[in-house]
Amino acid sequence: MREVRVTARFFDGHNDVLLRLWRKDKSGLSFLEGGADGHVDLPKARRGGLLGGLFATFVTDTEKSAAERAAETEQNVAAIAEMRHERALSVTLQQIAIALRIERASAGEVRIARSVPDILSAHADRAFAMVLHLEGAEAIGPDLDELEVLHAAGVRSLGIVWSRPTIFGYGVPFRFPSSPDIGEGLTDRGVALVKACNRLGMMVDVSHLNEKGFWDVVRVSDAPIVATHSNAHVLCPVSRNLTDAQMDAIRDSEGVVGLNFATFFLREDGRRTADTPLSVMTRHLDHMLEKLGPRGVALGSDFDGALVPAAIGDAAGLPNLATAMEKAGYGADLIDAITYRNWLDLLARTLR
Ligand code: ZN
Repeated sequence: MREVRVTARFFDGHNDVLLRLWRKDKSGLSFLEGGADGHVDLPKARRGGLLGGLFATFVTDTEKSAAERAAETEQNVAAIAEMRHERALSVTLQQIAIALRIERASAGEVRIARSVPDILSAHADRAFAMVLHLEGAEAIGPDLDELEVLHAAGVRSLGIVWSRPTIFGYGVPFRFPSSPDIGEGLTDRGVALVKACNRLGMMVDVSHLNEKGFWDVVRVSDAPIVATHSNAHVLCPVSRNLTDAQMDAIRDSEGVVGLNFATFFLREDGRRTADTPLSVMTRHLDHMLEKLGPRGVALGSDFDGALVPAAIGDAAGLPNLATAMEKAGYGADLIDAITYRNWLDLLARTLR
């Protein structure tokens, strides 16, 4: 019996590989060697046809200092913001340093890409392309100086908030079931941050942003609106997913949404279980295609940051998703648009 195998190529809108390495292997070398741990490393990426993606830096809440916790109990907002900023900048630089070490140790096999030509030339040389992303802008202070420096260091994408409040806006807390309409819109500094990203040609990501903040970005930004790793709220009513009205606005801006593989954001019962069929993912893709059109849908795996269906497992299992898309009736051109081309096209229209 002939095995049906889809040869697809993948570019992914979101992973937390740098956070995993920061916790377990600050040298970053295990990314090149591979291992049992983790969803994405170079050997797994090669097996699965993953050619690159957005690599997030992320500052956890678990590293809080005693002073920060004390300030929190006093609800001293200014002190909390200042301490969080110092810690966030330090952790962000440590995680970017891991990416730089991987690039240097890889002898050309892994490259930090700053533009779409960078990504394409990496792919022409069979090298893996990392685009650096800040998941939450806590590393950036009120005068935005750090933004300029991080951009110069290669960062090309930024989520204004993670799921917590900052000086820029209000992240949507993880609630199920819940509307994303929780909390206020962007602060004046948040508006300034979006404008600064537009000026620098840095991608602005609205995943994790609450709904009022989302509409502020739509109003303020002159770039396509992007949600790197969010799903359809109508199919899984978690606060992190996008309503149909939000998807309409993203389509109007010629933006992109990356399908999140986290079962918590996929399943209508919101359960975290690897026993989740891939048909649940194609159901979200069907709805996203209906709302966003064939150029507006891509992937945002959340690998190394979420529990994903066992039928994918890790980056080596990505072809199983392409097979599921084929079974759902998608043609080869549409599959390639979703798994690869749409991110490159979006980045080409956004990065400068
Ligand atoms: Zn995330």
